[in-house]
Amino acid sequence: MKRLAILGSTGSIGVNTLNIVRQFPEQFEVIGLSAGVNIKSLKEQVREFRPKIISVLNKELSEDLRKDLSSEEVEVVYGVEGLIRVATYPEADQVVSAIVGAVGLIPTLSAIKAKKSIALANKESLVMAGKIMMEEAKQQNVRILPIDSEHSAIFQSLLGHQKEGIHRLILTASGGPFLDLPLSKLHEVTVKEALNHPHWEMGKKITIDSASLMNKGLEVIEAHWLFDIPVERIVVRIHPQSVVHSMVEYIDGSIIGQMGITDMRIPISYALSYPRRLNLQLPSLDLSQVGGLTFSAPDPERFPCLQLAYRSIEIGETMPTILNAANEVAANAFLEGSIRFTDVPLILQRLMEEHEVKPVRTIEDILRADQWSRERAKNLIEGKK
Ligand code: MG
Repeated sequence: MKRLAILGSTGSIGVNTLNIVRQFPEQFEVIGLSAGVNIKSLKEQVREFRPKIISVLNKELSEDLRKDLSSEEVEVVYGVEGLIRVATYPEADQVVSAIVGAVGLIPTLSAIKAKKSIALANKESLVMAGKIMMEEAKQQNVRILPIDSEHSAIFQSLLGHQKEGIHRLILTASGGPFLDLPLSKLHEVTVKEALNHPHWEMGKKITIDSASLMNKGLEVIEAHWLFDIPVERIVVRIHPQSVVHSMVEYIDGSIIGQMGITDMRIPISYALSYPRRLNLQLPSLDLSQVGGLTFSAPDPERFPCLQLAYRSIEIGETMPTILNAANEVAANAFLEGSIRFTDVPLILQRLMEEHEVKPVRTIEDILRADQWSRERAKNLIEGKK
């Protein structure tokens, strides 16, 4: 029996994780849950999975929840401290880190320090603090298992191989909803169009990031840290069919990839049950219906965010944090209708130009850079209104 703490339990990854727990109740037990403001779903999850501890965004919500759940034996905590409590809860074996955004960093790092195995969906924590997180994981002898479908595919394609044999990692990207849109129309796309991802059902922020390919940029950085491969040996290929979830090319020319239907339960379950596989009883990928598979290099003019992500990790230190924080603010502003889709890369570029890179020695260095970037990006967006 594996005991899980799930950070971000009402989001897309969290809900899919609980679907797996529901399917395999003899293998998993839920010890802790955290949600932001989606209290209704959280309450249902508490009644079904009976965790020992739950965390919500703030004190007010926690007090309401405590009253509502007075018949349940569950401890209700809140805020960052609450997230840390859930992430380090003594009885939990594995922490599913599925909060979206920079806010996932501190609880994920706390879980590593508490020697919890990590199933990682929160890519932003690695983008910001990859070096610190990987060093801490090594020191604590903690395994970080990827939930991100591309990284799960690479992880699976690396099994049984030696690192010296790797030539490069090939991350696939669907290209999102604007792959074939005339470039001249890109500035007028709507939020609704951007949220219409062709293959994957995901949360809002990651869907916007997928449309701009920022998500792929963050994933390049994530792969760099997870697999310890220099970014110049990580390439992105647009693969609109989303059948091959990513690949590893070896020095002898062999390319090994992982294929499957686009269902997040596959990578989540592998992170939960590694090295075993769970019989998920999902429909097979019907290769006879797949037709052709195509791969192409991303157009830098269409997807400037990807280039900016590469540049940020080449510069390193605080720069990926600047990129990530500015992107969170800009993506949110686009979702709220304050800026255009094509303003997102312009804001990121401006912030990266303005930022004075500082060495990253501690997590505080990162948090300071994160805060500067958020404030500056907000000011820029305010000025646009
Ligand atoms: Mg992904």
